[in-house]
Amino acid sequence: MLNSLKGLWVTFVSTVKGLRQPVTREYPGTGTLWKRVSRPTPVQDRFMGFPALTWDGEIEEPFCTSCMVCIRQCPTQCMSATMIDNPAHEEGRSSRRKIVESFEINLNRCILCGICVEVCNFDAIVMSHEHEMSTFQRNGDRVDLPALLDIGKKFQRETEWVPPTVLAKRRAEAEAAQKDAAEEDAAGEEPAAAAEPANG
Ligand code: SF4
Ligand code: SF4
Repeated sequence: MLNSLKGLWVTFVSTVKGLRQPVTREYPGTGTLWKRVSRPTPVQDRFMGFPALTWDGEIEEPFCTSCMVCIRQCPTQCMSATMIDNPAHEEGRSSRRKIVESFEINLNRCILCGICVEVCNFDAIVMSHEHEMSTFQRNGDRVDLPALLDIGKKFQRETEWVPPTVLAKRRAEAEAAQKDAAEEDAAGEEPAAAAEPANG
């Protein structure tokens, strides 16, 4: 009897809309409350999303010189780019002779391997926090230069990004300063150590 009542209750709950727990979560949400409920989970700093291009805020241009190294190394061949002579270099404002003119990544084919970031010598590309794949347009996952720079700028802002070469330079300088200080300390202690046997 109890089991029959339980069974009837389950049937009742699954029949009456509104009493059921959602099985599949609607994403992105459409209603105001649902939108709040279906927010994406925040990601950690180490999370690797899609690749994006970085922006050199000092010169106000992309870091990317369109050297093609990442494009040649990408295992899925999902990137393409073109370059132009950099007008800022001609004006003496930038050390980059060439600059990216157009860049496209087909995110549908990207496997988030990070090779493009590894091989770039110009700090021009990062694995961002972007992971949304759904679009309403055909080919909506083919992302162009302005969109890649927007994702990159957002990532730089959120993570207070510093170019890896700058970080490496700072680390080398700190290590050199530490070594110099240690050498100076050792040089300062030597005469006292040398003087010890004479006193003894
Ligand atoms: S992202 Fe880096 S490796 Fe790729 S084309 Fe630009 S500068 Fe070259
Ligand atoms: S993360 Fe890998 S697959 Fe994606 S664009 Fe970079 S090299 Fe290509």
